Amino acid sequence: MLIHQHYEMELIQKQNELKSSARAIADELVVHSTTKYEGLRIHDCADRLTYDKDPFSSRIITKGSFCRHRLCPICQWRRSCKYTAIFHKLFDNYPTLNGQHWIYLTLTQQNCHVTELRAALERMSIGFQRLRRQAFWVQNVLGAVRFTEVTHQASDIAYAHPHYHCLLMVRPSMSQGNNYVSIEAWQELWQRCLGVGYIPDVHATCIRPPQKLGYAAVRENVINTVRYSTKPVVGPISYDWLAAISRETRSLRKVELYGELRNLRLQAGTGRNIQLGDIADDIVLDEIFHIDEGDLPY
Ligand SMILES: [Zn+2]
Repeated sequence: MLIHQHYEMELIQKQNELKSSARAIADELVVHSTTKYEGLRIHDCADRLTYDKDPFSSRIITKGSFCRHRLCPICQWRRSCKYTAIFHKLFDNYPTLNGQHWIYLTLTQQNCHVTELRAALERMSIGFQRLRRQAFWVQNVLGAVRFTEVTHQASDIAYAHPHYHCLLMVRPSMSQGNNYVSIEAWQELWQRCLGVGYIPDVHATCIRPPQKLGYAAVRENVINTVRYSTKPVVGPISYDWLAAISRETRSLRKVELYGELRNLRLQAGTGRNIQLGDIADDIVLDEIFHIDEGDLPY
């Protein structure tokens, strides 16, 4: 009971922080006629929440009405919890995932003016399709999940920093053997696929294999990368920034699954009749949302 009370307190505190951020964003949007409706939606998000305990598990259940706007920090956080829960379920259903080799890859491009963000994201999407068609990818990457994130340039909030966080499930020879791809090779590949004249920033980290860390550690590290990649991004509370991000990212999918991960996800199901790639835009109002205690604190 004490554990539940502790998590309830943390959950309520977290919701209050997110609600405060959401209100600040809404206040910027409601004063302009073109974004007034969006501001009102975010303003009213999760105005009333109820908490309950699942008597058959260690879960806390929250229930409420949510705006589903992609600028809303409350809904971003809910999506993050949802994706980590989905990956927990994948590992529960398919324990062999613990024995797989994983690479955490970040692909970037040069910062762009926020009004050019949509074109930049479309260019990255085409580049990623090309990357997936490369021989090394076809032969070595068994499955992948791609998260799209947009942050702002620290020195100038008129500029955006779009990037992909990717979790790759690969053949062992790619993470530590003959088919290992160095950072320089990743950069060269990504540069070619993007079709740009500069060398883009790329980061690649092996999530260490189970012989060294054990199964539980691999699962924990994979889940942590999912949580990190889907974390709420609030950004500057500036009307110009918020309106541009809302406009430039409208209807773009933030999460995509590929290969075996997509197949396993479809087989595993989540109790809902929607696919993972659809979740960002298809969260149903008043749904019951489960948060594993293992996902707290945030
Ligand atoms: Zn919301």
